[in-house]
Amino acid sequence: MKVLTFHGGIHPANDGKALTKDKEIRPVRPKQEMVYPLSQHIGAPAKPIVAKGDRVLAGQMIAEAGGFVSAPVHSTVSGTVKGIEPRRTISGSISDCIIVDNDGLYEEVAWPPKRDPESCSGSEIIEAIQKAGIVGMGGAGFPTHVKLSPKEPDKIDYVIGNCAECEPYLTSDYRRIMEEGEKVVAGLRIILKLFPKARGVLAVEDNKLDCAAKLKNLVKDDPRITVQLLKTKYPQGSERHLIYAVTRRALSSTQLPADVGCIVQNVDTLYAIRLAVEEGKPLMRRVMTVTGDAVKEPGNFLVPIGTNYEELLEYAGGFKKQPEKIISGGPMMGIAMFDLHVPVVKTSSALLCLVKDEAAKYEPTSCIHCGRCVEACPEKLIPARLAHFSLHNDKEAFQKINGMECVECGCCSYVCPARRHLTHDIKAMKRTILAERKR
Ligand code: SF4
Ligand code: SF4
Repeated sequence: MKVLTFHGGIHPANDGKALTKDKEIRPVRPKQEMVYPLSQHIGAPAKPIVAKGDRVLAGQMIAEAGGFVSAPVHSTVSGTVKGIEPRRTISGSISDCIIVDNDGLYEEVAWPPKRDPESCSGSEIIEAIQKAGIVGMGGAGFPTHVKLSPKEPDKIDYVIGNCAECEPYLTSDYRRIMEEGEKVVAGLRIILKLFPKARGVLAVEDNKLDCAAKLKNLVKDDPRITVQLLKTKYPQGSERHLIYAVTRRALSSTQLPADVGCIVQNVDTLYAIRLAVEEGKPLMRRVMTVTGDAVKEPGNFLVPIGTNYEELLEYAGGFKKQPEKIISGGPMMGIAMFDLHVPVVKTSSALLCLVKDEAAKYEPTSCIHCGRCVEACPEKLIPARLAHFSLHNDKEAFQKINGMECVECGCCSYVCPARRHLTHDIKAMKRTILAERKR
């Protein structure tokens, strides 16, 4: 089979996946209080529909969507609402959260009878996904019902299941497919019902041939779905580069995948879609990889949203060595954490704890004009010049050489022999320009 890819990118010598690749998903049942931020997605924050002192059940909606581009939040345990108050979240910022005192009983709401997705209309599918509070679980957290409601649905000719999992260390998608691949494929089939002209593609990197073989077997009698191998290369799973690899269609920063006829969904989102449509259950849990050389027993865990990161770490045996660096997510695009007392949210994919902070070890030196950052950039940008314009606050020059097209993948910083903080500088300039445009 032809292996597809895109220009640039990197392949770290040690991708860290061996630590957890063979670790089966284990359920987490937190005992402590649960914290549910009202904003776990792109769009308007959810609005609380419970008050202090209310008893809630697992699966109960506790905050409703704050608009069309928003998503409701559900309790993942039974207990009593302790309050609605500002709490620290993964990014370090303070955000309004509903706090539930977990009674440890895990009493659930009465679930509706199961239904056959084949008998559901398009609007019933969208409604189920919206009610379930599903958001893109592979990155930014865009509400899924919005993504599945493009202006011109007839123009969608590809629905791509993003099974690339290109971030080093992460194996949660791999485990989900190996253990419950049929439910992931069922989620893709439900989306295909919304777009009758589309074909489904399950895109897998070629370092996961067992995963590709499993998926191929699951779709062997389905003429609408194919499995496509992709070259193992970061950031192969980034939406823009995945679409390019599969369809050869280029997407700019001002376009949505639907503008080039594509819908992309990640593995856990596809899983959640089946659960919502077939079983009427909301998004309550997600698979997370807890890993790194500082963790005693790295593994994959099924984690209720709202769980405290420190409690999650206990399931992996805690630290075996004191980490210099803790990241929520993968090492390339994750968020550095300085406090573990924050809740798991719908977009949390991993907890990575590293004994050494390799990036902080070196001081940046002068650019030696080697061009490696240019070669690695998947957007064909000139990162060295973009960072230079950022440091000199030259917004016009930055935009002229397409700085806003940067996907913040970190490849340029990774390859730079002068250890320059290219991605950080470019990101900072992008934030400034976007904030000015908003004003
Ligand atoms: S400039 Fe942006 S897109 Fe290009 S390699 Fe650097 S971070 Fe990635
Ligand atoms: S990789 Fe680093 S040293 Fe080489 S051109 Fe880019 S910024 Fe300069």
